[in-house]
Parts: sequence; C-alpha cells; structure tokens
Amino acid sequence: MAKVLIIGAGGVGGVVAHKCAQVADVFSEIVLASRTKSKCDAIAADIKARTGRTIETAQVDADNVPELVALIKACKPAMVLNLALPYQDLTIMDACLETGVHYLDTANYEPLDEAKFEYKWQWAYQERFREKGLMALLGSGFDPGVTNVFCAYAQKHLFDEIHVLDIIDCNAGDHGHPFATNFNPEINIREVTARGRYWERGEWVETDPLSWAMNYDFPEGIGPKKCFLMYHEELESLVQNLKGLKRARFWMTFSDNYLNHLKVLENVGMTRIDEVEHNGHKIVPIQFLRSLLPDPASLGPRTKGRTCIGCLMQGVKDGKEKTAYIYNICDHEACYREVGSQAISYTTGVPAMIGAMMMLTGKWTGQGVFNMEQMDPDPFMEKLNLHGLPWVVVEK
Ligand code: NDP
Repeated sequence: MAKVLIIGAGGVGGVVAHKCAQVADVFSEIVLASRTKSKCDAIAADIKARTGRTIETAQVDADNVPELVALIKACKPAMVLNLALPYQDLTIMDACLETGVHYLDTANYEPLDEAKFEYKWQWAYQERFREKGLMALLGSGFDPGVTNVFCAYAQKHLFDEIHVLDIIDCNAGDHGHPFATNFNPEINIREVTARGRYWERGEWVETDPLSWAMNYDFPEGIGPKKCFLMYHEELESLVQNLKGLKRARFWMTFSDNYLNHLKVLENVGMTRIDEVEHNGHKIVPIQFLRSLLPDPASLGPRTKGRTCIGCLMQGVKDGKEKTAYIYNICDHEACYREVGSQAISYTTGVPAMIGAMMMLTGKWTGQGVFNMEQMDPDPFMEKLNLHGLPWVVVEK
C-alpha cells in the first residue's frame, strides 16, 4: 500500500493514473500533478466515474526544482512517476534526490536544443541515487521498457546468447486525421527526423533519416508492412547489457501519408528545433507546429486498428542456432473502452504502472539508476499478462 505522485497529465499520464487506480491494493493513494491542473481534474473525474476512486490533483511546473520539492514534501509519496516530457527528467530526478523518494520515467532526458536520445545525463546520477539509497528506473514504457524486458526474458529463458536483435514497432491503427502523432508531437518528430543508427560488432553505424526500409509480415492478421530503421534509445543500454550481442537495430512502421506530410514539414523548416525570428519574436518552429497538431490524448475516440511491438532475436541455445519473436498486440478501440485512450498511450502507461508496482512491492529493488533489462523480467512479464498487455513467444 503506497502513495504515488504522477507528474504529467497528457496521453500517457492519463493512462498511468487510470491503471494505478485499478490496483488499489498497491496504489492506495494517487496524486496527479501537471502544468495545467484542469487536465488533471478531467482525468480524476473520469477515474471517479470508471472506478469510483478519488485521486488528488495539483498544479506544478516540473522545470522548477523548488516547486517540485514543495509538492513532494506536501504530498509525501513513496515514489514519483514522471510522465511529463523528457525535458523535465533531470529536474524531477533532482527533486527526488532532495526529498528522498524513488523515481521512474518512460523516456530519456533531452536538452531542448539538441535531439540526442542518450542516457548519459541520467546515468550520471548513478552515484547520487546510490548514496541516498534510492532507485531510479529509466524507460518503463513499451519501447523503451517492455522491449528491454522481452530481451531480458529471452536472455534468461530462451537463449544462451542473443546474437542479433531487431526491435520492430508497428502501429497498424488509423486515427483518421491527415497528420497527427500518437504521442507528444515534438518528441515524436524529433525522434523520427533524427539520423538513423544501429549497432554492429561493437560500433554504431549511422544512416540517413528513414533511408533504410524492410518489409515485415506481422502476425495475427496484421500482415506485411514497410518498416524503417531508426535510432531508438533502448539500443544504448541493451548493447551494454546483453552478452554476446553482435547486431542491434530498431524499426518502426510509417504510412506513406505520414511520411509525405513529414517530408513537406521538414522541407519548409517546420520541424526545426532551433529559434527563428518571427515578427520581432523568437519562436521554435517545432513548438509552433506542436500547437497546431491534434493533442495525442484526443485521438482515443477516433483511432481504430492494432499495434504490434516486439523483439525478433537470433542466437544460440544448447549449441543450436534458434530464433525467437516475442510480441504484444494491442487494440486501439479496446484501450479506449477501458481507459479512454488510444493504444500508444496505453502501451506506454501500463508498463509505467507495472514498473512502479515492481518497485513498491519489492520485486525490483536497487540503489542507483537502472535500465529495465537489469531487473528480473519474470514478475514484470507476469503482470503484463494480467494488466492488459499479454505477450506471445514464437520460437523456431
Ligand atoms: P503529452 O504531450 O500528451 O503530455 C505531456 C504532459 O506533460 C502534459 O500534460 C504537459 O502539460 C505536461 N508537462 C509538460 N511540461 C511540463 C512542465 N514543465 N511541468 C509540468 N507538466 C508538464 O505527452 P505523452 O503523454 O504522449 O508523453 C509523455 C511521455 O511519455 C513523454 O516523455 C514521451 O516521450 C513518453 N513516451 C514514451 C514511450 C515509450 O514507449 N517509452 C512511448 C510514448 C511516449 P500541458 O498539458 O500543460 O502541456
């Protein structure tokens, strides 16, 4: 029985609040805080209607450490679940250190003016969390998050060594807008327009953005889709923690429509993350674009279809070559019926809740900063099946 503070009331924060509210024996008290309190209040009202539970809400600017410290001191949670944006990771970690509470997030820290997708800033907190006897769990979403746990599970049960890893993320859903992103538009576009990168024989190999593609035939009737090679942050920790790995890549599906819109936006400079002069003011084009695009939290009622995210692995077991594919399929409309959200927020929010559950129930403990694959995958995998993200293993 523990009290948690959830920060961020967007698409993912809303799902996390709903899923925590469904598990009252672990999350006995919930505070949801964000920059815009009315969004927290709307989520709290929906939770009350669906589960009968009352959660507290608060306003906070998560860029401001003293404000965060005051909020944490006032509500005294056992841990903070950070579902704000990657820009706030370090300020929230600082506030957790100052107040002595554990920390969890779903995306690595990003400086506003650089799209890096690197763990170096957060890994630098290792000693400070260790000295305080606190745990920081990084990347407890789906990818990063469940994909790391799938790898840890495969490493523990299916292989002696994993040699080749392909993480493949397919969203076969349709929201009906000409162009919208399924999670925060700014982070999504920064990620997709960045140079591609994969790891082979100990080295990173760079590719032009979205210049490599493959067709993959997804299971359970989803069928063949074009997938594009991208850099994704979980590769950085996985190549360190999976023994014997020779190559690791990440792929994501995009529709032609999405790619055409993105190309035009990029060509006219709307995806730039640096400041430009406009009518005597400085604006950052991607931030302006974000204000024009649909809010990911609004896509729930209109999104149909399914996601399929999984890890395809080749390696050896008992001297024999084998492959294994571990995946989850998630239905957008089923997520909407359950918590009022589309599947991208749902597949991120459920693992954030389960990560917190692992920490609060003592299944995952540690002092310092951890990536997901460093923890025992079994209790987490068990909870995925129970809380809405069942998984399938196909071995050959
Ligand atoms: P949204 O943009 O929908 O929500 C972000 C929320 O954070 C909003 O409520 C926003 O407030 C709040 N926020 C932003 N800045 C501040 C601040 N300074 N102080 C307080 N609150 C703030 O994003 P998503 O819900 O789509 O994404 C949330 C996180 O999840 C992101 O970090 C994203 O990268 C990550 N993610 C991870 C995935 C994974 O699989 N690992 C997949 C998808 C997302 P306001 O409403 O006022 O703007």
